[in-house]
Amino acid sequence: MGRRCGRVDYGRTRLAETTLFTHTVPEKGKSLPRATRTCRHCDKTYPLNKTYFGHNPQGGFRWKCRECVRRYVSNHNYRGNPRAIERTELRRGTIFTMAEKRDYGIALAVRDGGWICFYCKAELDSGYHIDHKLPVARGGSHSMKNFALACMPCNQEKHAKDIDEYREWRRDRGLSVLF
Ligand SMILES: [Zn+2]
Ligand SMILES: [Zn+2]
Repeated sequence: MGRRCGRVDYGRTRLAETTLFTHTVPEKGKSLPRATRTCRHCDKTYPLNKTYFGHNPQGGFRWKCRECVRRYVSNHNYRGNPRAIERTELRRGTIFTMAEKRDYGIALAVRDGGWICFYCKAELDSGYHIDHKLPVARGGSHSMKNFALACMPCNQEKHAKDIDEYREWRRDRGLSVLF
C-alpha cells in the first residue's frame, strides 16, 4: 500500500497547465507518475523536463516549450523588430552612421548639384535619405557610385526596386518620372 505525498509544486501554477500530482508512492517496480506541462503558446503537453522546457532566469521551467521559444526568437530578430534589423544592417555595413550620412550627404550634394532629391527633384532638408540606386540586397554596392540623395517619400516608395523598375512603377500609375 502507498502513502499519500504532498503536492508537487513547480512555482506558479495554473490549473490545466501544470499537472500536479497528489500521488501515491508506487510499489516497487511501478513507474513514478511524471509531471507534464502544457505550453502556453502551442498548447502541446510535454513531460516537464529540460528536454522540452528551458529554464527561466529564476531557475524554474519556462511556460513556453523549447520549440516555441526557438521559433519566437528567430522570428523576433527579423520581423516586427526594427532595432534588431537595424543592428543586422549596421553590421553588414549597408546603413549609415550619423557621421557617414553627413559626409556622404555633403559629397553627393556637391557631386549632384545641391540638396535635391534624385527622384522627385524636391529640395531636401536635414531629413534627407541616402538611397542605394541598386539595392544592396540585389547586388548594389555600398559606395558613392551607387548612392543618391533622396527625400523620405521617394526613398520609401522606391524601396527594393532598382531605378528602371521604379521608373516603370511610377509610369504604370500615371505619376511623374523626373529621373
Ligand atoms: Zn510550444
Ligand atoms: Zn523625392
